[in-house]
Amino acid sequence: MNGLMMQESLLISSLIRYADRFHGDTEIVSRRVEGDIHRTNYREIHARAKRIANALLAQGVKPGDRIATLAWNGYRHMELYFAISGIGAVMHTINPRLHPGQIAWIANDAADTWLFYDITFQPLVDAFAGQCPTLGRLVAMTDKAHLPASKVDGVIAYEDLVEAGSPELEWPDFDENAASSLCYTSGTTGNPKGVLYSHRSTLLHTMMGVSPDVLGLSASDVILPVVPMFHVNAWGVPYMAALTGAKLVFPGPALDGASLYELFEAEGVTVSAGVPTVWQGLLNHVMQKGLRFSTMRRTVVGGSACPPAMLAKFENEYDVQVLHAWGMTETSPIGSACALKPKHRGLSHEQILALKGKQGRPPYGVNIRIVGDEGEDLPWDDEAQGELLIKGPWVLRRYFNREDESPLLDGWFPTGDVCTIDPDGYIHITDRSKDVIKSGGEWISSIDIENIAMAHPAVAMAACIAVPHPKWDERPLLVVVKRPDAELGREEMLAWFADKVAKWQIPDDVVFADAIPLGATGKMLKTALRDAYGKHPLP
Ligand code: ADP
Repeated sequence: MNGLMMQESLLISSLIRYADRFHGDTEIVSRRVEGDIHRTNYREIHARAKRIANALLAQGVKPGDRIATLAWNGYRHMELYFAISGIGAVMHTINPRLHPGQIAWIANDAADTWLFYDITFQPLVDAFAGQCPTLGRLVAMTDKAHLPASKVDGVIAYEDLVEAGSPELEWPDFDENAASSLCYTSGTTGNPKGVLYSHRSTLLHTMMGVSPDVLGLSASDVILPVVPMFHVNAWGVPYMAALTGAKLVFPGPALDGASLYELFEAEGVTVSAGVPTVWQGLLNHVMQKGLRFSTMRRTVVGGSACPPAMLAKFENEYDVQVLHAWGMTETSPIGSACALKPKHRGLSHEQILALKGKQGRPPYGVNIRIVGDEGEDLPWDDEAQGELLIKGPWVLRRYFNREDESPLLDGWFPTGDVCTIDPDGYIHITDRSKDVIKSGGEWISSIDIENIAMAHPAVAMAACIAVPHPKWDERPLLVVVKRPDAELGREEMLAWFADKVAKWQIPDDVVFADAIPLGATGKMLKTALRDAYGKHPLP
């Protein structure tokens, strides 16, 4: 017997319809690529999304067509999120920090038919668009007066498309399992792979994401997603903001500490989200200038491990609560978040900080396991380390365009991350399986070593990689970027580890570098470090 409740598809268009109806005058503020501040609201975003949708339909866009964007976080990008998915086409956000050749590869794999781009990316578009035969339409996200000179023909201005489309539109109803958006993994191993989200997976992820033990968002929040809209849909924040009716503040391309701080203060931002390297820049800025956050109370840190020193700085010195979260492109991305339980109330401040350094527990909807080398289940005792497997309605089943390959193991997605799980289900990621240092049959967590190094006052950033060793197979090498004007030598750095890890886990050597290479999503690029230092002669 079926239940007798209404059947309504979970569609992305329902989010913007809701935000318009109940929070229409709530502001969406963007720092534009031109540098000025632009103000709009949910009502206008919805109206303009409908116009774009009508213009796309008039030009023959069909359900399932892939439409690409190369754009920063801004209101036009938000309009496209709803316009494209709303008509059943697929919103394909491409990471503009990739090499033109990689972008062409991705656009061809997706067979994108349209490309919308911020005008700052004109040189990039000039460099790759000619290599993409399916790309028929190019739209610069500006008005006619600001159209940049282009080497490719037929570029249209976004505002002309908005003008051309009628504002009258009933969003179509269709199967909630239809594809809604596409995002490629960064391809740190091999070519990038497309993860194709559905309306249903996106809506379930959005509803879970706003809940109190995850991002905990409400209409009273002012959210600034630093995490880019081309990086797993800014972790779902634009959808979550619409669902709650929260005010959104988009930083555009200016992600340096000074620009972010200015926006936080000017717009009364209460919550933000981004990768640790961005927060490092912000913290350096506020520390150097002796500034305080007057409204920022929470920040979500994920994408790579949040160094404990950063967590302590935010919480102890700036009164900003850190929510450490873990996820992947393949998991939409939220897989876990480190919200505490009532039983933790009695813990000391230090114990709480240590717990918050873990990646947290899965929300409802996410199932996890850890397995050993033979695929055997390992206990949740906070000690056994194994590969994390994950399963759930917003976890990938198969990559786009790879019909013949299943990435799953018995229906579970192997994450490639190594972790322990405690009896309460809190995950502690110790490494990526390809980054872990295998020394004499034992594993050394590169993240642990980096975290310890980064707690040294003279260290701005640190990365630990494996270097081949004749006796031990691999040994750890530490690459360190010093803080400006700080004094630090090899011996002092190594001595710092003496009372913090077992002797055999201490790196064999330290190299000092001007910078750590960052990948397209702002994470430390271990592959580039291995290329640069992988043959470093150990003492
Ligand atoms: P890529 O880094 O390849 O661009 P993703 O953005 O999908 O792709 O990254 C997912 C990976 O990032 C995870 O598998 C994990 O290794 C790492 N990661 C994400 N969040 C965290 C975290 N909080 N702590 C440690 N590692 C994390």
